[in-house]
Amino acid sequence: MYSGEARTAAELDSGRAMLLSGLRANGIRDQQVLHAIAQVPRQEFVRPEDRRWAYSDEALPIAGGQTISQPYVVAAMTQLLQLRREDRVLEVGTGSGYQAAVLATLVREVYSIEIDASLADAALERLRRLGYGNVQVRAGDGFYGWEEAAPFDAVIVTAAAPRIPERLVAQMKPDGRLVMPLGEGLQQTLIRARKHGYRLQVERFDDVLFVPMRGAIRTPEG
Ligand code: SAH
Repeated sequence: MYSGEARTAAELDSGRAMLLSGLRANGIRDQQVLHAIAQVPRQEFVRPEDRRWAYSDEALPIAGGQTISQPYVVAAMTQLLQLRREDRVLEVGTGSGYQAAVLATLVREVYSIEIDASLADAALERLRRLGYGNVQVRAGDGFYGWEEAAPFDAVIVTAAAPRIPERLVAQMKPDGRLVMPLGEGLQQTLIRARKHGYRLQVERFDDVLFVPMRGAIRTPEG
């Protein structure tokens, strides 16, 4: 893991180059994904005091006790989504907006839902300021998905849930892909679920560590 400190623009640039070579060495082969990670200025998505760590491969704290995901995990999840230019993608857990920006670099439209209204506002403002016009953000419980914009080619959940939220599957196109951390506490695995008619094919990948999904998933109906 690269954990160098970068204070100047040149140091941020070389930090970014080292991050990318680390991602390649760790199995991120999708050139489009690597290109998107290279394009999105992660230093704009972290707290000002953490800017110098923006290109170290680690999760960092953001407001509301939440985190911006580790670049490797963002890259791995994005690669698993197998995106095409024309796709429309739903994200649950906007957080800083970083993952949404990476997605927006790759696809036509991104819809992102954040349960913490102040994080949703801040992310939308940041994404607009940075020129990501193809991302819509709304405050709400992503458990219910985004019915008016469905169906989606791909769905990404960036908070850990004990099971795959059924409504999100319902809002996927046939052959759509859903990528999320499945599990609780320290036992979480990245999964990809592919929709084949009424059947879901689920594959398991790396163990990961995400903040828990909140809201209706925690209730008996969830
Ligand atoms: N994708 C983010 C990191 C996400 S951290 C980024 O790139 O920065 C997980 C986020 O999911 C947190 O911001 C948390 O508030 C949000 N979250 C948790 N439960 C949620 C739910 N039910 N619906 C929408 N967002 C949720």
